Amino acid sequence: MKEKMYLSTRGNQQPLNFYEAILQGIGSDGGLLVPDFKVDKKDLKELLDLHYIDLATEIISTFTPDDVKEDIRQLCKSAYGTGLFPENVVPVEKAGDVYITELFQGPTAAFKDMALSLLPYFMTFSLKQKGEEREVMILAATSGDTGKAALEGFKDVEGTSIKVFYPIDGVSPVQKQQMVIQTGHNVDVIGIRGNFDDAQTAVKKAFNSQELKDLCEQHHVFLSSANSINIGRLIPQIVYYFYSYLTLVKNKEIELGEEVNFTIPSGNFGNCLAGYIAKNMGLPIQRFIVASNKNNILTDFFNTGRYDANREFYKTNAPAMDILVSSNLERLVYFLCEDASLVKKYMDQLNETGVYEVDDDVFKKVQRYFTAGYLDEDKVLEVVGQCYRDTGYLLDTHTAIGYGVYKQYQKETNDQTKTILLSTASPYKFPGSVYQAISGEKLDEYKAVEALNKKTNVSVPKPLQGIDKREVLHTKVIDKESIIDFIGEQIKEL
Ligand SMILES: *Cc1c(COP(=O)(O)O)cnc(C)c1O
Repeated sequence: MKEKMYLSTRGNQQPLNFYEAILQGIGSDGGLLVPDFKVDKKDLKELLDLHYIDLATEIISTFTPDDVKEDIRQLCKSAYGTGLFPENVVPVEKAGDVYITELFQGPTAAFKDMALSLLPYFMTFSLKQKGEEREVMILAATSGDTGKAALEGFKDVEGTSIKVFYPIDGVSPVQKQQMVIQTGHNVDVIGIRGNFDDAQTAVKKAFNSQELKDLCEQHHVFLSSANSINIGRLIPQIVYYFYSYLTLVKNKEIELGEEVNFTIPSGNFGNCLAGYIAKNMGLPIQRFIVASNKNNILTDFFNTGRYDANREFYKTNAPAMDILVSSNLERLVYFLCEDASLVKKYMDQLNETGVYEVDDDVFKKVQRYFTAGYLDEDKVLEVVGQCYRDTGYLLDTHTAIGYGVYKQYQKETNDQTKTILLSTASPYKFPGSVYQAISGEKLDEYKAVEALNKKTNVSVPKPLQGIDKREVLHTKVIDKESIIDFIGEQIKEL
């Protein structure tokens, strides 16, 4: 059988196999890596009774070499089956008429755990398969949640080190605290004066910097990415789309084969894109509802076909979605047009002018599968409060955006299709806002944790308990312009 290979969305990358794609993280032409093979449609009936780990094995091995399925099962067991997640990994709950898949039950209480618990195992496995002897230095830019999840995933993992860059004023106090108390001999957390986009852009540039490439060679190391530009972030996320759906079938909420909608709080678009891949693998998804905060660049794109990054950047109460350069949209555009030269043209336009507009063909496809909307900050709080009063379910601010935008969509279209909301964070990651939403009272973050717990009886996730009393280990802050130089210095120290 032919080996499954990966190519760049911008067309100028030698084909890579799965291991190489994971280790390289991004296309050498600045594009993102995508499968160069047709993914086979899955027989849902055969997947119906599988435990999450076995389901993950079936889905993920679609993307890996054919002879390593049992290895993949072991990696999935290590990630999801050693007590860091609940037994069923992602519980599926219900609030009113909305099904909610809780993607935040892992080691850092946010959905990033779904992929970042597994990515380090992909990395070490790939290093082994390739006989790679260099160390890998993982770079991650974070809008709050990727950082902690990546740190937990990579801490003390042999052959790796990790540098996390976060905007000092762009993450919630709990998110920041989770990162700066991180232990591990190979971890580094760096605050930057700038926003998430600045951090992500600098990290992307680092991969293609000749100066850093030369330094890497001298110091026997190479760089890789833990952001959702790495295809190893996307593949594990396909699994919970199947799992959510199959759980509803098992619970007799839907018939096997019945179409559903997913509503997804979106930023870098990695979560939603994994769903689009699931749809291409035969999961009966009618529509994706792409939900944004006041940084509503995706809403505009899905409504007009025009991506315009020339706009004000807002810091909001859903900070993990404060993003204007939504990396994974590039992959979607590639999947829809299957024309790397066209994608390259769009991305060059984006780099040069901050704007691109897809052609009619692509836009028609966009409209067939995606609907988009957004909530501003006040509305987010209103939705958290309303959902709690109406259904007793406590949403975090990000998930509330998915919920609220779905409710708007339902009202406008009267679409009765059963809808699954992907819940991306525990309400205790944003306790100040969530408590304010249900009580009207503003409290300091950690007082809000206690008050929220008292008022709702929703328990505080273990990873968030007592973090305010832990020792701060990381205090470095640098300018956004010096990220690349900083990385260079770090390589020299190896
Ligand atoms: C990362 C994140 C998102 C956005 O996910 P993308 O894959 O970047 O679209 C939404 N909510 C929370 C809580 C997150 O951490």
